[in-house]
Amino acid sequence: MALIVHKYGGTSMGSTERIRNVAKRVAKWARAGHQMVVVPSAMSGETNRLLGLAKELSPASPTTAVDRELDMIASTGEQVSVGLLSIALQAEGMQAVSYAGWQVPVQTDSSFTKARIQSIDDARVRADLAQGKVVVITGFQGIDADGHITTLGRGGSDTSAVAVAAAMKADECLIYTDVDGVYTTDPRIVPDARRLHTISFEEMLEMASLGSKVLQIRSVEFAGKYRVPLRVLSSFTPWDIDITEESRSGTLITFEEDEKMEQAVVSGIAFNRDEAKITVMGVPDKPGIAYQILGPVADANIDVDVIIQNISHEGKTDFSFTVHRNDYTRTMELLKNTVLPQTGAAQVMGDTKICKVSIVGIGMRSHVGVASKMFRCLSEEGINIQMITTSEIKTSVVIDEKYMELAVRSLHKAFDLEQPAA
Ligand code: ADP
Ligand code: ASP
Ligand code: MG
Repeated sequence: MALIVHKYGGTSMGSTERIRNVAKRVAKWARAGHQMVVVPSAMSGETNRLLGLAKELSPASPTTAVDRELDMIASTGEQVSVGLLSIALQAEGMQAVSYAGWQVPVQTDSSFTKARIQSIDDARVRADLAQGKVVVITGFQGIDADGHITTLGRGGSDTSAVAVAAAMKADECLIYTDVDGVYTTDPRIVPDARRLHTISFEEMLEMASLGSKVLQIRSVEFAGKYRVPLRVLSSFTPWDIDITEESRSGTLITFEEDEKMEQAVVSGIAFNRDEAKITVMGVPDKPGIAYQILGPVADANIDVDVIIQNISHEGKTDFSFTVHRNDYTRTMELLKNTVLPQTGAAQVMGDTKICKVSIVGIGMRSHVGVASKMFRCLSEEGINIQMITTSEIKTSVVIDEKYMELAVRSLHKAFDLEQPAA
């Protein structure tokens, strides 16, 4: 008997019919003798719908007070899902009980809309499992020290599931979604992307952090920290598929070092359309300027990603960086109102129509010329690179958003990532 955590995403929970299928699949696992904890997302489209309602009423620049209410609203999507799934499980003849985050409790910090899980008390869940119940816990939400409901950022149910698996020392955490694993890139953009049977933890971490939404980055971080056996697989296989076959399907995240020694140099391509570029122009080129610009941005709890500073002309330079598009307006206001007057910079310019495209692979550590191959491929397509950033196992470029699909497809081909011909 093993303790297994299943996570079902929005599409997998998208209708009562699909919820019934999820219940049948979970019941199959429970009947096979496993203790089951299930973490579902809100039904597809529901979180967007809820946040859309709030947006109709909310001012352009959300405040912490608004963010608190957004979490109050958005968290209800998952609350509906756990109730429905428990009822469906009971209809399958299972004993099942649903919990919201606060009932477990899933304790988080107070960063509304992007809270981090701090601890999970497993006592209540264990007691239910011991009584033979299937326990259904909301994804995406938790509670802070003052009793406020929080949410974990978009896609956060992955993190809830992996955190629950880590807290319970589960034997495995299975992330059921609408694709049958992790692909070399998003199969919606490149139809002949190839499914990876395994992906190293480090590569998965990069892919997620660079925009592959198949797993939320914090879920991968949790899996790494607590060594949670993690697999991404399809919820659209027939629910009564043989369990052994099901357990081997999808993509396994592996933790072995040098797992990919003999495999491709580049394992995958990620892209991110959620960022915006900001350039502060005519900044006096003197010590402390990066801090003067980015210090207030960090103090406002805004994450900065790619940063470049150009060479100076006559003592002045340009300084560019990217932020999440949700933080764009706030950052521009901050720069205009605070940073420009303090630094004596000439002006601030913004561009929200950019995207970041990245190649990822642990093989890049031991191979030279990978980045230049990427640049050559983009130049052959006539795509201008606005910013570049690299690490040991990835190279990212910021380009005009309108070239995103072309860039991803060309790079996918250039690095031989397509399906082998049948
Ligand atoms: P869920 O609702 O199940 O959490 P998501 O939409 O969050 O599902 O994540 C699954 C989606 O991630 C897929 O439908 C796919 O379009 C997208 N995706 C992006 N990059 C990848 C990738 N490298 N491999 C597989 N899917 C990817
Ligand atoms: N329902 C949340 C979202 O849409 C969390 C999730 O699906 O993982 O972002
Ligand atoms: Mg998701």
